[in-house]
Amino acid sequence: MSSTANNVNGTSSGSNGTVKGTALSLDQARRYARHIILPEVGSIGQRKLLASKVLLIGAGGLGSPAALYLAAAGVGRVGVVDYDVVDLSNLHRQIIHGHANIGRPKVDSVRERLADVNPDVEVVTFNEPISSANAFDIIKGFDVVVNGSDNFPTRYLVNDACYLLGKPLVDGTLFRFEGRANVFLPGQGCYRCLFPAPPPPGAVPSCAEAGVLGAMCGVIGTIQAVETIKLLLDLGEPLVNRLLLFDSLSMEFREVRIPRDPECPLCGDNPTIHELIDYEAFCGAPVTALG
Ligand SMILES: [Zn+2]
Repeated sequence: MSSTANNVNGTSSGSNGTVKGTALSLDQARRYARHIILPEVGSIGQRKLLASKVLLIGAGGLGSPAALYLAAAGVGRVGVVDYDVVDLSNLHRQIIHGHANIGRPKVDSVRERLADVNPDVEVVTFNEPISSANAFDIIKGFDVVVNGSDNFPTRYLVNDACYLLGKPLVDGTLFRFEGRANVFLPGQGCYRCLFPAPPPPGAVPSCAEAGVLGAMCGVIGTIQAVETIKLLLDLGEPLVNRLLLFDSLSMEFREVRIPRDPECPLCGDNPTIHELIDYEAFCGAPVTALG
């Protein structure tokens, strides 16, 4: 794929193209056997995954399936940003959490669940809101960012931080019975190419106001996990410059081309945005994971 994809693998691959680190253990060879038997993955690809670092923004509806599949796949370090606690109303879609964790921080619930799914995975948690003050520090240590937030301040902040840091961003959104997914690679477009600025406060109902079919989270969050693994392994054709639209009622997938906009205020030819912006104040929406 592109040079960006090589950058994705840059932290997990040696300069001669071989993967750093030790050979797979016997248990790992068994655990990942169905990956390793795929010629496109193999032992080298599996070791790349084990050396990879993926950050999840939000441990909610989208972050739950994404985290479970990425951990099961053997992504070596999974970071999770979420400062919310598990609530009963989360459980119809946030499948990483369970009854026993109601009232506990979501990051603790995630850490324990992922340790059970795959002890190979190091889980790094950030039990704090992401903002202009910490976004660069949190994101810079990861290879790919998966956005599972449902609010505009976080969406714009993460988009801008990923672009400015040169990090691939795997985006997903949900609304009632519909979902969207796409990938932004630095230099090949960003969220602001589609929507240059956030909508005014109250213009778009939140997930809590509009509702969402819980199982939709599994569809879109799993697509995000698949796209992330493809990026990490430089496989196939990523959802770059392509917005995938899923309508669960008609059970139709459509695709819309989204080229980079030369007029984009962030990634365009004459950018006006050079630093992170906290939109919370005038968007008027609480900054939480898809909830
Ligand atoms: Zn852009």
